[in-house]
Parts: sequence; C-alpha cells; structure tokens
Amino acid sequence: MPNDRHDEIWVGTLLQGEARWVVARTTDLVEEARKRHQTSPVATAALGRLMTGALLLASSLKGEEELTIRLLGDGPLGGVVAVGNAQGEVRGYVHEPFVELPLNEKGKLDVAQAVGQGEFAVSKSLKNGENYTSMVPLVSGEIAEDLVHYLLTSEQIPSAALLGVLVERDFQVAGAAGLLIQLLPGASEACIEKIEEQLKGLTQGISKIAVESSSMEEIVQTLLGGLSYQVLEKRPAGFHCTCSKERIEATLISLGQEGFEEILEDQQAELICHFCNEHYHFDEKELIELYEQAKK
Ligand SMILES: [Zn+2]
Repeated sequence: MPNDRHDEIWVGTLLQGEARWVVARTTDLVEEARKRHQTSPVATAALGRLMTGALLLASSLKGEEELTIRLLGDGPLGGVVAVGNAQGEVRGYVHEPFVELPLNEKGKLDVAQAVGQGEFAVSKSLKNGENYTSMVPLVSGEIAEDLVHYLLTSEQIPSAALLGVLVERDFQVAGAAGLLIQLLPGASEACIEKIEEQLKGLTQGISKIAVESSSMEEIVQTLLGGLSYQVLEKRPAGFHCTCSKERIEATLISLGQEGFEEILEDQQAELICHFCNEHYHFDEKELIELYEQAKK
C-alpha cells in the first residue's frame, strides 16, 4: 500500500452541496507541539484537539486572516490557546503543560476534567482590520462538542465535529485528526439524517482512523465514504509560530527606559515565546544596544 502520511487539510462539499466538510490530519503538528511544550498526555490531547479545531475553523478564513480559540476553563490545565490561519499554519500552548490526571470512566484521557468549566472564546482578526471575539460557555470541555455549540449559538451554523489525539505509552502522538461538517442553508432533513447515520456508523475514533490510514484519502474515505462527497481543496498543515528575535527585540524596546533598567541589572536576559517555547537569549552587549533604542 502506498504510504503518503503527512499533515493536510482537505475541504469539500457533500450530498449535492447541502453541507461543507473539512478534514485535517494533524499527527505531526501535534507531536511537534508536544515536544516543544513537553506536555503530559492529557495536556497533549487538549492542546492537540484545540489546535486541530482551530485549523478546521480557520479553513474558511482568507489570506492572512487569523483565528484564535481560547479555552478559559477552571480545570488544572489553566487555559489552552490555539491560533490558526487558512494556510494550515497553527500554533498553541497550555498554561499548565505538566498536569496529570487519572483516565476517565471510559479509559480515555480525561480532557473534560483537565479543561474544567468556563468559556470557549473565538477571536478573529480579519483582513479588513476588524477584530472580534465571541464567547460561549463550555458545554463539555471535550472540545469537539464545544466547537459545535459555539458554531450553533454564535454563528448560527448547525454542524458536527470530531477531534481526536491518540497518545502512546511513551507520550508520543500516534495519531491526531479532526472532522467538521457544516450544514449549508437549505440543507434537507434527509441530508441531516444521512450525516448522522454516517457518523454513528464509524467503528473507530477519529484518532485511531488517523493512525491506521496510510493516506489522507483513506482518512477522508473512512470518515465520509457513505456520503457522496466532493473534494474542493487540499492544503498542507503544520506547526508554525510567528515569533522571531526581531519581534522580541521590538517588545523589549517598547518597555521603555524604566522597564529596561531592571533587565539590564541582570546583564543578560532570556525571553521565551509562549506559543512555541523558543528561547531567545540576549547578552549584555545586545541589551545595551536595545536600551539605547528604548531611551529614544
Ligand atoms: Zn514562537
């Protein structure tokens, strides 16, 4: 069998255009996030599901537009953040990446417990310069249900979503994927029934499907095979952060003279990007140069 396994996003329609679907394979990018943030299994599952969800939602954005999802829960993770765009780029972090919890009664990583109760917030920064945030209460903390609830209450789009991350015993990500089906205006009752039937008929979780499929085509076929579907777009997906040493320097300069004097006392500084955990080191000489700019 051909082996063509890398992260991708496919977008299409199904049942004579009555619904839009998006499927993302995110195994590699969730594994990269896990390695960067050294997340525990339950934190990997929460972050991986949210990053996958952000990519699914962001698939309908345009150009440079960006979308941020924040899980503002009171559970031990202390909040999870993911930012995605329509190019398939995503980044994210968990406030408390080392949290460990017992498995839930189904023997699965207890993401709901780890997230807790709170808000599901989606912010969009659109190309016309507009930014807006919409917040709905978390309904389950398992993230897929929360995404569906958000789409229905905030954007009036009936949808179905699956998000899954399978973590190995050695903490590595074996598979991660997501599916979003959104009904388009005028979708028939028969269309809704067919989609429900198809999803009910899946014999494996979506993360297991990602593990066992040898290509994106196979993942999509397994998820949507019983529905007549068309593929309209395919694009690569990956972990991508927008930080750089120049951006961090600009942040330091913006502290101004007073803020900077504290940093100078230590004769060196190390700044860490929340989103990708990249460490940026500044020695005394660099700090003095930046300080001169901050004074201006
Ligand atoms: Zn970064």
